[in-house]
Amino acid sequence: MEKKNAVELIQKLSNVYGISAFEDDVTRLFREEVAGTGKITEDHMRNVFVEHHHNNGQRPVVELDAHSDEVGFMVRAIKPNGQLMFVQVGGWALVTIPAQKVKVRNRNGEWISGIISSTPPHFMTPEERTRLPKMDELKIDVGATTAQEIIDDYQIEIGAPVVPDVTCEYNEHTGLFLGKAFDNRIGTALLASTLKDLAQTSLDIDLIAGLSSQEEVGDRGAEVVVRKIKPDLAIVFEGAPADDTVMPDYLIQAGLGRGPMLRDFDSTIVTNPHFQRYALDIAKENGIHTQRSVRTGGGQDGAIINRYNGAPTIVISVPVRYAHTPYCFIAYQDYADALQLAEKIICQLNAEVISKF
Ligand SMILES: [Zn+2]
Repeated sequence: MEKKNAVELIQKLSNVYGISAFEDDVTRLFREEVAGTGKITEDHMRNVFVEHHHNNGQRPVVELDAHSDEVGFMVRAIKPNGQLMFVQVGGWALVTIPAQKVKVRNRNGEWISGIISSTPPHFMTPEERTRLPKMDELKIDVGATTAQEIIDDYQIEIGAPVVPDVTCEYNEHTGLFLGKAFDNRIGTALLASTLKDLAQTSLDIDLIAGLSSQEEVGDRGAEVVVRKIKPDLAIVFEGAPADDTVMPDYLIQAGLGRGPMLRDFDSTIVTNPHFQRYALDIAKENGIHTQRSVRTGGGQDGAIINRYNGAPTIVISVPVRYAHTPYCFIAYQDYADALQLAEKIICQLNAEVISKF
């Protein structure tokens, strides 16, 4: 995909709002982007499937996965003073939540601006100023003064989705994006780009993309998607937390701008070593920088796909600095390298290659 188009796509995907189960705007954008690349269907869970035009049902099925949701919040209750209590949707560290600007979707589908409020320092005791607030002390304030106002004027209800209000910037000079939700809109961008680039390519496998919902609440979309696709092999695109600001040099395994990361291990998957080796060799032959990682925690859709019927599965991730916070960095070059690697792999796959994994 041309750089200009890719930059625009990544920015659009970062900006669109979609916590788990509320991915409608993400899937709409994705479907527009991949229109004409294959047969597109969407289920009630907001999983989107794209089947390559040339699929004939006679060849190994390769699933490409990315998840469409982002971490956010949901309104839990409306307080008499018009503040909104909320829960986390996906994993947040409490320290990154207070004082953020957010958008709350009301019952008409309008996105209302709000602030995650906390007690002003003026009203805090010296002890309170030095400690983190507790989750249930944080509220969302949209400017209302009574609960009735929230219901009648703002039209906000319990169950309303909430996202960080962040607009993606791209710096041409540094090649970096600063925005929200790169976990996993950068994977979504990779999925769309791969489909577009390979739309007219004849392959030796049947290619089916699954844009899965609800990964951030436990890979729920992927569980449904894999049962429909029944893959023989899978490639997962992810935005993985970058570790170059928190680890010593020798432990950096997902550094910003150092190339896509292929994970060998996390708490949910031990990557098929034969497929992993095959992918790393292709990267080397083509001069594509990669990073490998052995994680002590974490998990992603690949585990669900792998466990369904044992399909060898690799995870190609773009490092995301400050994943699961409102403001993140990613590098364009990591995206471009991940895309090139995935396409090289897909074009070389056939039944014989897969049988050796
Ligand atoms: Zn995530």
